[in-house]
Amino acid sequence: MDIDPVEVLIQDHLRNVGDTFPVKGHADVSSYSLGDREFQVKDGFDYDLLLTNTGEGILVTGILRGRARGVCDRCLEEANFDISSEIEEYFRFDDGEASAAYPGDDEEGEEAEYEFVSKEGKIDLTDALIAGIYGETPFVLLCKTDCKGLCPHCGANLNFEKCDCDEKAFKDPELNPFAKLKELNGLEDQED
Ligand SMILES: [Zn+2]
Ligand SMILES: [Zn+2]
Repeated sequence: MDIDPVEVLIQDHLRNVGDTFPVKGHADVSSYSLGDREFQVKDGFDYDLLLTNTGEGILVTGILRGRARGVCDRCLEEANFDISSEIEEYFRFDDGEASAAYPGDDEEGEEAEYEFVSKEGKIDLTDALIAGIYGETPFVLLCKTDCKGLCPHCGANLNFEKCDCDEKAFKDPELNPFAKLKELNGLEDQED
């Protein structure tokens, strides 16, 4: 994703334990892709983060928001969605004990994940922001929750028009196995 790096120099803003530093900004992204899907972004993304020096590292928490547009997975029309992503990232100070287990919150027994403050005393928030955007991009995008999609036979957008494919299929035994069954039942009836 094409996004300007967001970096913070610790010694400028977070030198002492307990220091906090707010990082607010705007990521000027106009589009992005995820897998083979493309999304247009309306006015970029706004983020509002709070950085805290915990003594062992820098904790980053906050939120990222934006509005994006893609293609409805059912009817292929335009579909808009809001992104509102909670950001949480931990950057440890590299104290040479990198192999020691991090005693942080490992809910569900998962291994806690963290980055490191760089040797220059910098943290790079860019990846956390990008992960927040990807993480809140819906797997299945719909123009509305009850989108009726396209008719698989004639391609009509069933949100806007009605086609008679269903009716035809019901009458035509070649298209509808249930119709054929009905026919057979009918024959049996005659034999009785
Ligand atoms: Zn749709
Ligand atoms: Zn149809």
